[in-house]
Amino acid sequence: MGPGPITADPRVLRAMSAQLVGQYDPAMTGYMAETQELYRTVFQTRNDATLLVDGTSRAGIEAALVSLLEPGDKVLVPIFGRFGHLLREIAERCGAEVHVIEREWGTVFPPSEIGAALASIKPKLLAVVHGDTSSTLAQPLDELGALAAKHGALLYTDVTASLGGNTFLADAWGVDAATAGLQKCLAGPSGSSPITLSAAAVAIIEARKSVEAGIRSEGDAVRSDPIRSNYFDLAQILDYWGPKRLNHHTEATTMLYGARECARLLVDEGMGNAVERHRLHGTAMVAGLVGMGLELFGDQSVRMNNVVGVRIPDGLDDGKARAAMLNDYGIEIGTSFGPLAGKVWRIGTMGYNARRDAVLTTLAALEQLLRRGGVPVAPGSGVDAALESYGG
Ligand SMILES: *Cc1c(COP(=O)(O)O)cnc(C)c1O
Repeated sequence: MGPGPITADPRVLRAMSAQLVGQYDPAMTGYMAETQELYRTVFQTRNDATLLVDGTSRAGIEAALVSLLEPGDKVLVPIFGRFGHLLREIAERCGAEVHVIEREWGTVFPPSEIGAALASIKPKLLAVVHGDTSSTLAQPLDELGALAAKHGALLYTDVTASLGGNTFLADAWGVDAATAGLQKCLAGPSGSSPITLSAAAVAIIEARKSVEAGIRSEGDAVRSDPIRSNYFDLAQILDYWGPKRLNHHTEATTMLYGARECARLLVDEGMGNAVERHRLHGTAMVAGLVGMGLELFGDQSVRMNNVVGVRIPDGLDDGKARAAMLNDYGIEIGTSFGPLAGKVWRIGTMGYNARRDAVLTTLAALEQLLRRGGVPVAPGSGVDAALESYGG
């Protein structure tokens, strides 16, 4: 019940035990096409360029940034938690001219503040995290696509933590590039990064295409300043997933089976229903924590549905408490990073764990552990409050 990775859905694990097939086997290329279409629904987009990057979520982030950003390009990164710092770090390694604006962890940016920075910096790319698990908050994105477009910038967002559990509308919000991972609300293991790219993003990437020697045919593009990563070169990866099926890496077959099953689960449930499920169980968890008298962390009006931060009660030993949760109850919760390490716990209700029994058991265990640690908590207060939240 931490901030991710979470318990995988058994259906995903079963899908991942299926036999391998060759990468040009019609079954495999069929699965690839099917997976692309499923993720169009998950991202709420009609983008043709919707595919998987092999690697954890960070692989998707690197692929998007290294393929979009040329050395010297200006990028604006609003930072409100750990993963904003990661976007800055990766953009700097791409040789981009990185401009940041920062907010204290526990808050997000009013769109006007991002608009003002766009107006003065005029970047090629606005790169912002949607839900930052480090602070548990989600930056509202609905106005940022139009704002970025008004100032001639593309919008990239990391939706790893939020996708599937919080509304995300790539097309309606004018998002040009979004990248995710499986180990949060998608109920899978880490190791595959679904991504989607708008036509404008694809145009920039295609213009940078340089086909590697050995697979190149006459007339193929070759450049002296190619995209700086071969593995994360989306121009070549697009040719691999597209009708050319030009060989690049060997698709990670087992991860594709897993990613496909994650998307099938969500699409079967319906994206709106999945968000509602995360809201229901996330709200019950919050009610239970408040019912026990714990203090929530951060601006609750923009909290993600799938993870909540609470201040660790004074005098309680964080390491011991989390070890007791794990050893005595088999339940994992997390602390946070940087300024919040050892001060805030992060408790997730995401993917397969966004369930009533998981919420109630976690609250019961936490209550017991707090009482034994000397924190005054009324017996039953957490579970009772959660049950109230569920409506009796
Ligand atoms: C959890 C998380 C990640 C994880 O990246 P990995 O490479 O899969 O470890 C990335 N971005 C955000 C916003 C996250 O919350």
